[in-house]
Amino acid sequence: SAPLSIVRGAGEAAGRGILMRTGEAFQGYRLARKIVLDKTGTLTAGRPVVREIETLDGSENELLALAAAAEASSEHPLAQAVVQAAFEREMTPPDVGDFEAAPGKGVIARIGDHEVVVGSPRFFDERAIDLSGLSARVEALEAAGRTVIAVGRDGRAMGLVALGDMVRPEAGPAIAALRKAGVTPIMLTGDNERAARCVADEIGIDEVHAGVLPHEKAEIVRDLQKNHTRVAMVGDGINDAPALMQADVGIAMGGGADIAIESADIIILANRLDALAEAREISRGSYGKML
Ligand code: ADP
Ligand code: MG
Repeated sequence: SAPLSIVRGAGEAAGRGILMRTGEAFQGYRLARKIVLDKTGTLTAGRPVVREIETLDGSENELLALAAAAEASSEHPLAQAVVQAAFEREMTPPDVGDFEAAPGKGVIARIGDHEVVVGSPRFFDERAIDLSGLSARVEALEAAGRTVIAVGRDGRAMGLVALGDMVRPEAGPAIAALRKAGVTPIMLTGDNERAARCVADEIGIDEVHAGVLPHEKAEIVRDLQKNHTRVAMVGDGINDAPALMQADVGIAMGGGADIAIESADIIILANRLDALAEAREISRGSYGKML
């Protein structure tokens, strides 16, 4: 049976909305020197909204209707925000034929006789769709912290949709508390570098890995583990699950995807970031008494 100090620690954690459910939650977390945090949905609320629309030619509504149609079958939060914006403008998106999602990149949909692509500027580069007429706008919007997705039809760029997400209000103090405890925070995100830096600067994170594809998240955690460095990882998404498993201690936000929660040693049911430092104190407290 578990030592009494651990049973007490688990009880204390539960009272604060923290589920410590493996030995690693207690043994591993107190030794972690680095904590990797996913941006979207972990450091931010994870509910992006459409803020700006830019078109090369044609109207904003035409662009939004096409984007919403292409995104209708995607479960990505960015896709849901685009669909919501079209709904709020009382538009009826056209019908969609074939649909394909490229995780961490975007979507491709057949709409009438057209192929519509919606996704990151990098996805457009990969598909050789020229965005040069919009690149100054992309840079300005990203520098302001926006996630910018481009919309293209039949190999030509039509315009941009810029989305914004709210940084969790407790993120800054939570990061400061981890730093004070000697844990280095590191941001990991599939979003663009400029928007990632904007959020990182706001909350006090220096090391940022941006533009990371879903399968690369676990590889980055593995790199950080070199020289026996113990690494904790905090995430909420389907994309984060392999990285949560790779980390010495996986921590899932309570509002996250089922697979992220199943992959974690610690679950922050309370869904607030201050719990990260609290859980570490509990991990230290229950082990300190045994050594
Ligand atoms: P994160 O790590 O921030 O959760 P993802 O790996 O899910 O990000 O996505 C990375 C980037 O890929 C997004 O910022 C966006 O540019 C693009 N992307 C992914 N899915 C979609 C989608 N359904 N529609 C448009 N863009 C997408
Ligand atoms: Mg996320």
